[in-house]
Amino acid sequence: MSAVVNTLNFTPETLHKRARELVLAGWSFYDKGWVPATSGNFSARLSDDYVAITASGRNKGALTEDDIVVVDLAGQPLHAELKSSAETLLHTALYRRFPDMGAVLHTHSMNATLLSRHHGSALHLEGYELLKAFPGVATHDTQLVIPIFANDQDIPRLQRRVDEYLDPHPATHGYLIAGHGLYTWGATMADARRHLEAFEFLFQCELHQLKG
Ligand SMILES: [Zn+2]
Repeated sequence: MSAVVNTLNFTPETLHKRARELVLAGWSFYDKGWVPATSGNFSARLSDDYVAITASGRNKGALTEDDIVVVDLAGQPLHAELKSSAETLLHTALYRRFPDMGAVLHTHSMNATLLSRHHGSALHLEGYELLKAFPGVATHDTQLVIPIFANDQDIPRLQRRVDEYLDPHPATHGYLIAGHGLYTWGATMADARRHLEAFEFLFQCELHQLKG
């Protein structure tokens, strides 16, 4: 195992550390109700060429390091035993696009699911102090645009639509899939988790406002 991993330009220690981060994220988000019924998937960069990602169909509240799969940036698993998430391509496209990005989190919270069905092609967040959780935002007097894509079981087609949006909008911090959930990312797992928590808080604020 170690000989193979060494030729892949990441160490077993790196894999262990990143896998542990993914497991802890799964436990935490499951407790918050953000990844019900085996939904959601998380990934972390291992090197320029490889990513660790949660295996398909696992209960995120009972995740272990054995549920983590290594894939290349084309989404191909390093070992055939475990199947990576169906949405792996959405993760690897982000790693290819952003070389400094270290983690991607995809959740299916009730707030993200409900809001994404009420806002057409984009959600606009503005006037919130918590917008400062995102890189490059220094004041509440900012508008953050979160694009909303129609849900699609054809993942390569969905990925192309995301790419077409991100090409002219590289400063995006996350996107919603209608009736489905949120993708967000960051330079480190801690950054990605901060963005996820901020989005979830802001989504809840928006939903409360919708209810009047
Ligand atoms: Zn999903």
